[in-house]
Amino acid sequence: MRNTFHFFAVITILAILISGCQPAPAPTSPPPTSTPPPPPTHTIEIKPTETAIPHETADIVLTNGVIYTVDNARSVYSAMAVKGDTIVYVGDDQGASEWVGDQTRLIDLQGKLVLPGLIDAHNHANFAVSEVFEVPLWGIQTVDGYKQAISEFLAAHPGLQGLKGGGWINPLFPPEGPSKEILDELAPDIPVVLGSEDYHSVWVNSKALEMAGITKDTPNPAGGIIERDAEGNPNGTLRESAADLVSETIPAYTADQVMEGLKYFQDMAHSFGITTVHVPHLTIGTPDLEAFRQLENLNEMTIRFRGALGVEPTDDPSIVEQFVDAREQNKGGLFEISAAKIFMDGVVEGSTAYLEEPYVHKPDSRGELLWDPEKYNAICAALEKAGFQIHVHSIGDAATRITLDGFAFAHEQNGAGDRRHMVTHLQLVNPEDILRFAELNVVAVPQPYWFIVDSYYTQAVEYLGQERADQQYPMKSFFTNDVVVASASDYNVTVPPNPLAAIEAGVTRKWNEGITAIDTDTSKALNPSEAVTLEEMIASFTINGAYANFLENVTGSLEVGKKADFIILDKNIFEIPVEEIHTAAVLLTFFEGAEVYRSEAYLE
Ligand SMILES: [Zn+2]
Repeated sequence: MRNTFHFFAVITILAILISGCQPAPAPTSPPPTSTPPPPPTHTIEIKPTETAIPHETADIVLTNGVIYTVDNARSVYSAMAVKGDTIVYVGDDQGASEWVGDQTRLIDLQGKLVLPGLIDAHNHANFAVSEVFEVPLWGIQTVDGYKQAISEFLAAHPGLQGLKGGGWINPLFPPEGPSKEILDELAPDIPVVLGSEDYHSVWVNSKALEMAGITKDTPNPAGGIIERDAEGNPNGTLRESAADLVSETIPAYTADQVMEGLKYFQDMAHSFGITTVHVPHLTIGTPDLEAFRQLENLNEMTIRFRGALGVEPTDDPSIVEQFVDAREQNKGGLFEISAAKIFMDGVVEGSTAYLEEPYVHKPDSRGELLWDPEKYNAICAALEKAGFQIHVHSIGDAATRITLDGFAFAHEQNGAGDRRHMVTHLQLVNPEDILRFAELNVVAVPQPYWFIVDSYYTQAVEYLGQERADQQYPMKSFFTNDVVVASASDYNVTVPPNPLAAIEAGVTRKWNEGITAIDTDTSKALNPSEAVTLEEMIASFTINGAYANFLENVTGSLEVGKKADFIILDKNIFEIPVEEIHTAAVLLTFFEGAEVYRSEAYLE
């Protein structure tokens, strides 16, 4: 349910040159004082050789292409050479020829575009297990469609002890959510627990409610809602923490199963050019964490993962010591624990995002703040002191203010340091707080896949009012104020996590066919004043994502000495209309010098 629109001009060499003005990984680079004159054509300037270490031969030499390096100057070259896992040369074709030996793999790019491997700064790769073992409802646009998918899955998986699944969306149902009766018809004898697309609600059948002991007399748990029918009986929808009540009804996945999911994820992510991923919200002692370790031990990890450990409001501050131990056990490899994850509020569509002003449809409610601010400040200070990056889910403007207050408090306690805390989602942000991101060196982690007019927008108009709905998802304001912006999919809230579709949406603020959505409307852009340039979008998926993960010296740009993480596209996205960017496809993906994906369309 996304559409594309076509109003952006072809990107010219001017845009390439101007892109040098954008702050690169750190927000401190001063902008240039003058703009280069406009170029005569749409071709990209190929720079001459700047760097070469002579007298070695490379394993791979790429020539005759457009290598957009995303270095500080946003240099573009025609050739690159790779030895082992490292980039040893970027420059012109002639210089590259000196790297060719008997064993060198030669790739004639024939003018194709090469970008750094893409980085997804908030992606639940561990949830890919659900794509392998659960009934998928993502992208289905009707309740009848849900019914059909569930009955087909049950028929294909006889003997199930319980059915899990996910991807249904709130806007297809009344405000109290979907009802258990729909599922009881399909599966009366086994528990059924189906997560909503945003993971903030579950839809269950009567068997699951019975096994969990949820009745008319069960009170709402703290931070959760048991939706009810007119008689007060649980209707089959559980919001936020109420979902925990049914979490035991279906057996959890094993580490082996989660690892199967990670393998599936790696293949899928490589097909979209992704080579580095920040995984928020892992938990100590779970099969998920074990699965990452297992995959790395098997030498089958082909994505660089950075992980965050989830902190709950009920956790004792001593949990930080456990985090330190877990970090020690998961470091020095492709998978490392580097951060802690905190949920500050819920979501607008669940009326749980924490707002400065009340909801329009619930005038007595500003949503739900999930943390006591004092307790949050204390845990921030403790995590920061222990060297953890803090990664916060914050949707509402009031939640983001409290999130930043906690970082400021922690900085006061701990003194100066290179923290790079991250705040993700950022649906409504007070403009004053955007300035504080820069002051506190906080990385903004938006999901440009959501910068569209669709069913969520329609609901936002109803819940937030027209004015706030049209201020959703700032992006340009972050760039303008020198905030580092690292884009993310929030997979598997977003399926598929195709960065090229998001890059287009960040530029157009309109739906395109690379994005799964319902009731899209491309006659209108979402908050178009927050549209950014193609160069900014690419930076947000490359060097800025590297910076967000303390990896800017390892990956995120194509420079000598960095890991050879790069992709080759079938179309030069600088030379096609921006509304066609989502149609570009990855032909080859390399991770640390190894080819990890090859499209069927690629002919070498
Ligand atoms: Zn998430």
